[in-house]
Amino acid sequence: MTSDAANPEAANPGAADSDAVNLGLLLDVDGPIASPITRTIAIPSIASDLVKLANAGIPVVFNTGRSDEFLRGEVVGPLVAGGLRAEARVYGVCEKGAVWFRITPDGVGELTVDDTLVLPSALREGVERLIDERFADSMFFDHTKRTMISVEQRTEVDSDHYLAVQPEFDRAVLDLCTTLEIGTVWRTEAAPDASGTISVRIDPTIISTDIESVRVGKDLGAERALELIAATGPLPTRWRTVGDSRSDYAMADWLHREGYDVAHVDVRPADGIPETPYEVLTAPVDSTNDTAGAAFLSRWSGALAAGTLRGAGIIEHGDDRA
Ligand SMILES: [Mg+2]
Repeated sequence: MTSDAANPEAANPGAADSDAVNLGLLLDVDGPIASPITRTIAIPSIASDLVKLANAGIPVVFNTGRSDEFLRGEVVGPLVAGGLRAEARVYGVCEKGAVWFRITPDGVGELTVDDTLVLPSALREGVERLIDERFADSMFFDHTKRTMISVEQRTEVDSDHYLAVQPEFDRAVLDLCTTLEIGTVWRTEAAPDASGTISVRIDPTIISTDIESVRVGKDLGAERALELIAATGPLPTRWRTVGDSRSDYAMADWLHREGYDVAHVDVRPADGIPETPYEVLTAPVDSTNDTAGAAFLSRWSGALAAGTLRGAGIIEHGDDRA
């Protein structure tokens, strides 16, 4: 970001006091948008509310570890079918900031890949071999990734079984990285290369393990997202980030650090809510993942229709925060 980032309103005179809705959305996909069970948009109002918000001028960026192909199949289609307009500023930032594109009424626009974030092919091939030889009954290799390596729970496999096997797999990947002399970190365990450098992170989630450059993350995705939005029109100073994992807080951390007004929506706060310098919003206890994501999108789309998202775009949250 430029030095203006510390004072976003100076960078965007008029953004806060014009009639435009001063709000932007940064959305994790698996969890708040796509069901972690079906891995699709299973609640129809999610797509229709996203289209309403985007068509009203609110920038929407999907900030995900998923591939562009996943977004193309599971997210882009429903938005296009829902009537997304050409002027809507909607982007996919995939592979945690390494791959990005605009979503238009024609589908996926021009795709950009940061080649400096591509992992070594020897590691990719080694992980694929590991799956074939030892873990194929519980997980599969995601061939759609362009920069990172992702291994995902087979949907027919029980979650408890997967989560029991996953640490064994993660450990095998750490050993493989050591053999290939690639400095790696897994949870609290660091295995630097001979020069003391760590270049790769093993990042387990509840349905997958991502093996990735240490430079990628939801914070890099947020930075890319704001660059894309800033290049195509007014940049909101007020943001909502939405996610289901602890790592998703990095979006809001980054925005807060850069001087934006941000609140984070945690749709699966079962892991506990960390201390943050910004507000964290949660849905009622009986609503998690995409049910909670849908509730927030409906709330914002309702506020938009009621005219209460105008001007400074203040979203008031009372006790009933969904
Ligand atoms: Mg997620």
